[in-house]
Amino acid sequence: MNLVIFGPPGAGKGTQSKFVVKKYNLFQLSTGELLRTEINKKSKLGNEISSIINSGKLVSDDIVSNLIEKFVSEEKFKNKLIFDGYPRNISQAKNLDILLKKYNQKIDLVLKLSVSLEIIKRRISERLAQESRADDNEETVITRYRTYEKSTEPVIEYYKRSNLLKVVNGEAGISEINTEISRIIDTIKG
Ligand code: AMP
Repeated sequence: MNLVIFGPPGAGKGTQSKFVVKKYNLFQLSTGELLRTEINKKSKLGNEISSIINSGKLVSDDIVSNLIEKFVSEEKFKNKLIFDGYPRNISQAKNLDILLKKYNQKIDLVLKLSVSLEIIKRRISERLAQESRADDNEETVITRYRTYEKSTEPVIEYYKRSNLLKVVNGEAGISEINTEISRIIDTIKG
């Protein structure tokens, strides 16, 4: 089973992905985490992307698509991926369809965690205290939220048309969300 998880910044995509990975023996593919690893390595790519990420905008489609092909092409991850933070715009969604087809795979489920901007701001300021991510300040968070509305929301519509989308209340508590996601996955798996 391959799964895509959507939600605005601070919706709990990472937390929920880690839970699903453990429970269903999947692998998390977080483009945000991969990009932050590059920044921490101070690699050439890392230096190129750090100012883009800190501004709250999206890095180029080519960069992220190269990162994800490494996973999609690996036998050990075949049909076991949870895409956390990819695709983030329509062109990435189309690219993912092409890539999955190339490696004989498909998306089985798309989850959307819906959360209001009000709650996002509160959660991000809590996360800043724990993780100190450079892009977790209020100004950048608002840009990230707007980027999500403008570029990523249309992708959700794209999946809605293919009947893969399930919406989960991302404002509930972590364990309630865990339970709801498990119920959805168990229904799909049959
Ligand atoms: P995240 O950890 O998913 O919140 O991602 C943090 C930041 O990494 C985003 O605000 C973007 O700047 C960048 N990023 C992550 N995934 C993508 C993607 N699929 N396409 C473009 N930029 C991305």
